[in-house]
Amino acid sequence: MKLSLYIFILFIPLFVASCGDPNEYRVEPVFAEYVKRFETEAAKRGKDYKLQTEGLIIEFAKLKNDQAGLCHYENPIRIEIDSVYWKKISVVAGADYMKENLIFHEMGHGILGRKHINSTLENGDWKSMMCGGDKVDNRPWNINYRRERRNYYVDELFTESTSAPLYTTTELLVDTSNFTQRLWLTFNTGSKSDTGWELGTNSNYTAEIDNSQLKFSSKFTSSYGILLAVQNDYINIKSDFSFEMEIDAKTTANTDQYGMVFAVNTKDTTEYFKINREQNMYPGNSKWYSYYTQLKKATINKTGKNKLKVVKIAGIIYYFINNVYVYQTEVELFGYGNNFGFIVPAEATVWIDNLKIGTKSSSNTTLKTISIKDITFSIVKMKDNNESISDK
Ligand SMILES: [Zn+2]
Repeated sequence: MKLSLYIFILFIPLFVASCGDPNEYRVEPVFAEYVKRFETEAAKRGKDYKLQTEGLIIEFAKLKNDQAGLCHYENPIRIEIDSVYWKKISVVAGADYMKENLIFHEMGHGILGRKHINSTLENGDWKSMMCGGDKVDNRPWNINYRRERRNYYVDELFTESTSAPLYTTTELLVDTSNFTQRLWLTFNTGSKSDTGWELGTNSNYTAEIDNSQLKFSSKFTSSYGILLAVQNDYINIKSDFSFEMEIDAKTTANTDQYGMVFAVNTKDTTEYFKINREQNMYPGNSKWYSYYTQLKKATINKTGKNKLKVVKIAGIIYYFINNVYVYQTEVELFGYGNNFGFIVPAEATVWIDNLKIGTKSSSNTTLKTISIKDITFSIVKMKDNNESISDK
């Protein structure tokens, strides 16, 4: 029922006879910028639209069924944007990308005649910003519509046959081996040189050594990041680094997300790499509306440990799960920083082992192994960052 209604609404042109000016142009001021951009991007590709004379209506609405936007095939094309969704995405980092994505998607339907396409690229990214409609494996519509991906998605919007960009291959195209290990926490004994973190029990958590691993049992009712700050003269997030750990988790639900986190400082934005027991991975940044996208990765062990690793090279984060390269995307952390750690979901227990941090070798610096006395320990509440993007 929902499907048939949906197709009816989106794809059957409904030309409303003699009910107004077919060339009416009425676009809410906040949407005008994106309409202009659409025309500019179209012009770059040899397509000439003059929507102000040809007609277009884009207006706010209160949409039902978790819809962010809706295109009515009337004359002129009329697009409704959900005002609640628009307001929600307006306050986050990347708001401009998200707004452009939504308006371009609806104009893709109405102006370009494009339908939904829910296939994926080799790395798991959505193939098109025209993803939507009937869900595939219950995957949320979150799309990594940022930076270099934005260029591809706009190309694909206007030319569906656009070939997949190089970064979407599952082949690793950079050398990630050239890092010198600076810190290695083995958790083999209870001494601080093995654990990094302070052990003990308090009203919020218990941190202890269990079977040569760090066992962290959270009593917090939301997700927390458990971070180590390493002194700046050793490692800086602004530079290239590698960071890895083995992690196991006992969570309340299989959908609960756990993993690794790194940050400029504990008050500002954090970048994360989370997984869950349903073999999904979630790359993202805490200042953004939600994770960039949800990716199904068969290399994730459904039970037991997983080895997670990120390598930052020239502003790009390369992600590895159990030694398999799985994804890459641009980092959204800017500024100097030195915090590394793990994410424990609400009332969950995680086990951490073999946490390692490395930096690039360079001829003019002497690399020292990090001294445990130069590490400080902190706990930060993580923003859930777990919104599913509404249908459109
Ligand atoms: Zn759509």
